[in-house]
Amino acid sequence: MEKETGTGLSAEIDEPPGRITQERIEIWQEEDALAVKNVEDLSKDIPLLKTRKEALKKVTKFFHLRIPRYYLSLIKNVENTKDPVYMQCIPSPSEMKFSEYDKMDPLGEVKTEATRFLIHRYPDRALLLVTGKCFMYCRHCTRKRLWRCQVAEPTLDDLEKSLEYVRENEQIREIVISGGDPLTLSTEKIESILSSVSEINTVEAVRIGTRAPVVFPERIDEELLAVFRKFPKLWINVQFNHPIEITPESTEACRNIQLAGVPVSNQSVLLKGINDNAEVMTELCHKLQSIRVRPYYLFQCDPVIGAAHFRTSIFKGVEIMEKMRGHTGGMCVPTFVVDGVDGKGKVPVSPNYLISASDKSVILRNYDNEIFEYHNPT
Ligand SMILES: *Cc1c(COP(=O)(O)O)cnc(C)c1O
Ligand code: SF4
Repeated sequence: MEKETGTGLSAEIDEPPGRITQERIEIWQEEDALAVKNVEDLSKDIPLLKTRKEALKKVTKFFHLRIPRYYLSLIKNVENTKDPVYMQCIPSPSEMKFSEYDKMDPLGEVKTEATRFLIHRYPDRALLLVTGKCFMYCRHCTRKRLWRCQVAEPTLDDLEKSLEYVRENEQIREIVISGGDPLTLSTEKIESILSSVSEINTVEAVRIGTRAPVVFPERIDEELLAVFRKFPKLWINVQFNHPIEITPESTEACRNIQLAGVPVSNQSVLLKGINDNAEVMTELCHKLQSIRVRPYYLFQCDPVIGAAHFRTSIFKGVEIMEKMRGHTGGMCVPTFVVDGVDGKGKVPVSPNYLISASDKSVILRNYDNEIFEYHNPT
């Protein structure tokens, strides 16, 4: 490449190779800056009647709007408000219809923080929230308290205190790094967080929760992958909610993460009108399996404010599990989970296959509804 002179770029070129400086704007950041961030911008791409536009302006005063160009381009018909991509990213006046069960912090995370932005709910793993920012603000998000009006950012001091807590609590063997979306941080900061966490000997696994491969695959660039390659304890969990989201771009992002040696799993949210039927969920999980992304959880949509219109009955999740388990490969069946409010934690809810039991025998039901006795060894 030709070396440019007199453009101010030479200082950057003269940096030692591999060093990422604070001032440097990474290429993905330029792309990210083009995201749609307000209703006016949105109306250039999505036809909005005047009344709807006014209604959405009110909604976005309460719940921010942010949509990467890539994700917006996945909407097949911009007039179709029932499109599964549209519904996940474009605000709806229904967000202002709060139900009496809705909460700002449905999982009671703030109340159960061990240190600021560190939630230690289960004995051997802890959840570290590293930013409130996301590439896209999903309309169904459980943690919208972190970005709803103002983005919450943990300070370096918060992070240091959390790391100290993890060092002192040796029973913690897994750290879940989440937010917000951790990959909105600079590659340099991500590397520094991964190093600090991985350095703790008692931490055996580090998991990043991110939607970047799904909503902003440009983020999975070579520099980030080079960082991922350095951390053998790393796992990545993404959130695909509909088969439409599995595109050549998101597939390549997942594949590159896998090629960096990092297993990729998926956590979907059960969303009314988007994926709340067994056919769509099965197609999603089949496609995930075909790109080697393991379906891990299917979450009941939490009682978070602004998401009442997305929630289904819990029976819907059970019905989907019933129609998937045994009918398709076990490797593509997620676990349906309800996260109890106020910190009760995740509860797997599944169809019942154990009809009755005694010390001598159990009565079982198989996926095909055959009921049979099975000797219970003592
Ligand atoms: C979901 C969650 C975890 C991780 O739970 P897994 O069942 O291991 O996926 C850890 N801590 C908190 C607070 C969580 O909400
Ligand atoms: S990426 Fe995750 S944290 Fe961010 S808005 Fe979407 S669901 Fe919420």
